[in-house]
Amino acid sequence: MSATPVLFVSHGAPTVALETGPYAGALALFGAAHPRPRAVAVVSAHWTTDWVVGITNAERHRLIYDFGGFPEALYRLEYPAPGELQISARAAALLDAAGFRARLDSVRGLDHGAWIPLRLAWPAADVPVVQIALPEVPAEALVRFGRALAPLRDEGVLLLASGGVVHNLSAVRFGDEGPADHWARAFDEWIADRLAARDEAALVRWRELAPYAELAAPTTEHFDPLLVAVGAGRPEDRLETVHQGFQHGNLSMRSIALR
Ligand code: ZN
Repeated sequence: MSATPVLFVSHGAPTVALETGPYAGALALFGAAHPRPRAVAVVSAHWTTDWVVGITNAERHRLIYDFGGFPEALYRLEYPAPGELQISARAAALLDAAGFRARLDSVRGLDHGAWIPLRLAWPAADVPVVQIALPEVPAEALVRFGRALAPLRDEGVLLLASGGVVHNLSAVRFGDEGPADHWARAFDEWIADRLAARDEAALVRWRELAPYAELAAPTTEHFDPLLVAVGAGRPEDRLETVHQGFQHGNLSMRSIALR
């Protein structure tokens, strides 16, 4: 069996779940164009943790509508994907072996950073899902975290890292579909360039090296999943740009696959 891809998505605003534009189309195409994975293991910006990493451990997931002030229709969306307890246990063992401490969590559901892109890519909800929390650790450790989970790729499990390349909520202008701010474009392009070069060393030092890093990511939790994806990548992987572009003035929607 060849390795499954690693997918990083910028998940944007929750309203993407109701849209049918190019971003939704790109995720739908990704899901349709690749063989159906045995399961998806998802790491999202919206479940962060310390070194003790939670892993969902349920036969059925409930959804967490962890956003406020959005259209009522969003709160009625469902995504009844099953869990896969065997993969929860396997992910825990891999993390424990790599020096992280894992904790199985049978209560936690899927947050919107997980279920919205999953629903766009695999709308039938027939692929089992396991969500793994994102540890709040230094950049090098995030890469190690991704590397620890990479063996899942040889077991038919697709790794989905969900965050955002440019994510500054205080700068977002909802509804502004004009040209993106120059600082957002400059940061996004630097990241795209370093990804294309597979320059892991520079990506780990993004906060000091990338232009406008402080403005593009005043907090790191949306950027961090990209480092998890980079860590799960392998030298032989090709970089595929699944989608690029901006919404709301500066929210990068860049999404990539390593495969
Ligand atoms: Zn988010």
